[in-house]
Amino acid sequence: MLKIIADENILLAEQVFGTIGEVVLLPGRELDRAAVRDADALIVRSTTRVDAELLQGSRVRFVGTATIGTDHIDRDYLQQRGIAFADAAGSSADAVAEYVFAAITQLVIDTGARFRDLSLGVIGVGAIGSRVARYGRMLGMNVLLNDPPLARSSARPDFLPLDEVLTADIVTLHVPLTRSGEDRTVHLIDEQKLGLLQPQAVLINTSRGAVVDNQALSRWLQAHPQARAVLDVWENEPAIDARLVQQVRLATPHIAGYSYEGKRNGTLMVYRALCREFAVPEHWQPEPAEETHRIRCRGDAGAEIALYEAVSQVYDIEADNERLQRAAGENPHELAQTFDHLRKTYPLRRDFSQYTVVLSPVSMEVATILSGFRFAVDA
Ligand code: NAD
Repeated sequence: MLKIIADENILLAEQVFGTIGEVVLLPGRELDRAAVRDADALIVRSTTRVDAELLQGSRVRFVGTATIGTDHIDRDYLQQRGIAFADAAGSSADAVAEYVFAAITQLVIDTGARFRDLSLGVIGVGAIGSRVARYGRMLGMNVLLNDPPLARSSARPDFLPLDEVLTADIVTLHVPLTRSGEDRTVHLIDEQKLGLLQPQAVLINTSRGAVVDNQALSRWLQAHPQARAVLDVWENEPAIDARLVQQVRLATPHIAGYSYEGKRNGTLMVYRALCREFAVPEHWQPEPAEETHRIRCRGDAGAEIALYEAVSQVYDIEADNERLQRAAGENPHELAQTFDHLRKTYPLRRDFSQYTVVLSPVSMEVATILSGFRFAVDA
C-alpha cells in the first residue's frame, strides 16, 4: 500500500488521496525528515520547503504541491533524484483575480473614484495577471502590462517597460518568486522602484512576499500618507512585520487563492498527476456543481456600486483585513501563530461563478460587467 504524507490544510486530502493509498496528515511546517522517511509520495503547500534537507534518505518518488507558486520546491534536486513532481498551475487563478478586484472595488468605494478614470499596472501577465488585466479593461480602466519573459517569447506588442507601468494609479504584482537570472523577481519592487510610484498610488501584492522589499515599503508608506497598499503575501511568513500590517489598507494572511473552488482544483490537479505516476485509475471525481446562491444588488447606481454590492456579499475582504489587523497588536510570536491559524481556519469562500445576481432595476451595462466577472445574472 502506498504511503502518502499530505499537509493537513489541503482541502479533501484524506478523501481524495485515500483512494490511492494510506494518507497521513501533518501540519505543513512540521513536515521533517523523520516524518517523510518511509513515504512514497509527499503532498505539500507553500509552507513546506522541499529540498535535500527534507528528502535525503527517504523513499519518496513523487512530490506534489497543491499551489500555483513553486518557489518552496528545489526542483533541481528532485530532478537529480528522479523524483516526479507536479504543481497546481492555474488552480486558484480565478480566486486570486477575484481577491484583487474585491480589493480594488473596496479602494474605489473608499475614495469615490470611477473605474474608467483609473490606470491599472499589471506586472506578470500569466494565468492570474491576464485575468486581472481582462477585468480591468472590462471596467474601462487603462491597463498597462509588463512581462519581459512573455514579451520576448511572444510577438505581442502590448508590453511596456516596468518603470512606465509603475506610474499607474494601481499597480498589482503577479510574478513568480525567482532568485536568479535576468528576470529575477526577489525585491523586484525595491526602494528605487517604489520611488517611481505616484504619491497616492495603490500597490497590491498577491504574488510572494519577497517580490517587494517590505522594509522599503514600510518606509515609503510612512513617507506617503496618501498611498495605500494591499498585501496578501509578506516577507518571512508567518513571522511578518506587525508595523507593516498596521500601515497597509488591506492586510490578509496569504489567502487570496483560498476559495473552495481554487483549493479543490489544486487537490484535483495533484491527484491526477499522482494517479498517472503510480499508474492507478482515477476513482475520485469532484461533486457536480450545486445550484448557485442568489444575491441581490442595485442596477441603477453605476458599475462601482453594483460591483461593490455584489462582491462584498460574496467575499468580505474587510473581515479578512480586520482579523489580521487585530493580531498585529500581539507579540511577534503570537502574531506568527495567528497568521497560520487564520489560514488554517479560513472561512468558506466561493468563487463568483457560484452566485446568481438579481439586478434591480435591470441595467444591461451592469449585467455585462457582472457576467464578465463570471457571476450568473438574473436580469
Ligand atoms: P504564471 O506562471 O501563469 O504567470 C507568471 C507571469 O510572470 C509569467 O507570464 C512570467 O513570464 C511573468 N514574469 C516572470 N518574471 C517576471 C518579471 N521579472 N517581470 C514581469 N513578469 C515576470 O503564474 P500565475 O498563476 O499567474 O501566478 C503568479 C504568482 O502568484 C505565482 O507564482 C504565485 O507565487 C502567486 N500566487 C499567490 C497566491 C495567493 O494566494 N496569494 C495564489 C496563487 C498564486
